[in-house]
Amino acid sequence: MANEKIEKGGISVETAQIFPIIKKWLYSDKDIFLREIVSNACDACTKLRRLSSLGEAADVDNDFKITVTVSKEDRTITVTDNGIGMTEDELKRYICQIALSGALEFIEKYEGEGDASSGIIGHFGLGFYSAFMVSGTVDVITKSYTGAPAVKWVCTEGGEYELTEADVAERGTSVVMHIAEGEEEYLEKDKLLSILKKYCSFMPVEIYFTDGDAEEDADKKEEEKPINDVEPLWQKNASDCTPEEYREFYGKVFSDFKEPLFHIHINADYPLNFKGILYFPRITHEYESLEGEVKLYYNQVFVADNIKEVIPEYLTMLKGVLDCPELPLNVSRSYLQNNSYVSKLSSHIVKKVADKINGLYNTEREEYERIWGDLKTFVEYGCLRDRKFYDRVKGSILFKLSDGSHLTVDDYLESAKEKHENTVYYATDAVSQAQYISMLTAEGIKVVIFDKIIDTQFINVIETDRAGVKFKRVDSGLADALKGEGELLESEELKELFKKVSGNDKLTVSFENLKTDKVPAILTVSEESRRMEDMMRLYAIAGEGKDMPFAAEYSLVLNSSNSLIRRLSEDTSSEKSEKLAKQIYSLALISQRQLTAAELEEFLDHSYGILADL
Ligand code: ADP
Repeated sequence: MANEKIEKGGISVETAQIFPIIKKWLYSDKDIFLREIVSNACDACTKLRRLSSLGEAADVDNDFKITVTVSKEDRTITVTDNGIGMTEDELKRYICQIALSGALEFIEKYEGEGDASSGIIGHFGLGFYSAFMVSGTVDVITKSYTGAPAVKWVCTEGGEYELTEADVAERGTSVVMHIAEGEEEYLEKDKLLSILKKYCSFMPVEIYFTDGDAEEDADKKEEEKPINDVEPLWQKNASDCTPEEYREFYGKVFSDFKEPLFHIHINADYPLNFKGILYFPRITHEYESLEGEVKLYYNQVFVADNIKEVIPEYLTMLKGVLDCPELPLNVSRSYLQNNSYVSKLSSHIVKKVADKINGLYNTEREEYERIWGDLKTFVEYGCLRDRKFYDRVKGSILFKLSDGSHLTVDDYLESAKEKHENTVYYATDAVSQAQYISMLTAEGIKVVIFDKIIDTQFINVIETDRAGVKFKRVDSGLADALKGEGELLESEELKELFKKVSGNDKLTVSFENLKTDKVPAILTVSEESRRMEDMMRLYAIAGEGKDMPFAAEYSLVLNSSNSLIRRLSEDTSSEKSEKLAKQIYSLALISQRQLTAAELEEFLDHSYGILADL
């Protein structure tokens, strides 16, 4: 083709149809044009690299690179690579004759389904045409690695093109996008850099960003460092990565400088082929957002964030990267939702997470106990949501005891065999329930600390799984182990007196001989009624239900072996006895829970009155 000979054409008869469609359907995500053009440049480099290593192309230096240049003056973005390039023939075949027939059929079928159609761009090799979302005219100047003459192709927004010979010595391709009226934001350096960072941070060929309008020196300076990391950590073998590298990668990718709890490096090739690193972030407090972030890549090209179809909802607090070359580059949500590959991927990830938890439990028990406090919310939540996940990890679930040590569920039940078979004692507040805890631990009964809301829901999972096992809060009744021998007091008058001073006519009052003689009375609340009340309260918090239809059932146990109780039983009618009984009841209440403001005020008044009488 001589220079004076200009070949003209239209990219295809359907051009008029395809251009508006590209603009319309990709409108919501225009930014991806840059990803498409840069990843084409990247492919062009990797293709040549492969050909050369196969001996099918002459040896090439491994100095592949891509340059993205923006010029406000010229209103252009130029993406240049030194990859495989195209001959005139290839340019006509790959760029001019886009596979329109298939694409149009697809478009007709899915027109109006919004999301589903966004897949067409990648599916039918239209990636290059996404340049027209922001450009009026697009030029492609390319020279094939074969040494064939270079060509220049100029295509306008309407789809008409001109093909001429170009005067280029270097192998590779430049795509010059002449930014359209109204799309000036794409001429801003910051905007382009942020798109490049988002989509191209881990592409396998070095990408340099330059300001086409800058003076020579400044220009050079910017060229010093590529914007991407060509060999991201997930591509390496886990055995070649150091803990520092994992930490650094996490900090860089997620801008989270709290050290994650641990990571899982997945390198699967069969039956699923994907790689990735998932991190368990450190949660500093219970109500911190558990929103994680999993970034999906396709051969090191960023595809999307927070793909909830890939990560089960209960693991969404994970942060990490997944590279799935078996998924199409332009995945759409609806594609992912009903895709069997995706559900396999998801269950594979769940399995890996469970394996990691079990692995830590089995081989690094000390470290595992150290991080259990942070981990358990995730694990318990997962168990609540997915029975299969519970089945996988149940052997690695720990109970944290009131003395700070940890036991597995099995070990706890084993230790309980003699004194309280199948009963797990737990406290929801180590401070306000301290008296109950110390009475139990004094008798050798281990108390589990369950101080998160989710813990108490998790109890149901274990109770359902292990028939016969019951969880009892420390104040839910008196363990047999606390009861001693000896003569039991019985006094209806005294029971009545306590009922009266409590102001609760539903209160059950009974006598027991406790091993300790220090404590005059203990308030207990039945486990079932309390759980019911807790649940009601939870709903009330959520805005449903107003009045509490259920009230927890309270019982007061009077200790026969205590001297004050014995003394009171002899005189149940004097004013002094009533004062004493009231004070004993208030102290029992204080040991069970925090007083309300009104209760506290009354208690203080009453106490001052007693002091005045002394
Ligand atoms: P896809 O990349 O999905 O095949 P595109 O429309 O993006 O679809 O590109 C069509 C074809 O044009 C590519 O497959 C490739 O053969 C060719 N091509 C595009 N950009 C370049 C480039 N920078 N260098 C060499 N060939 C390219």
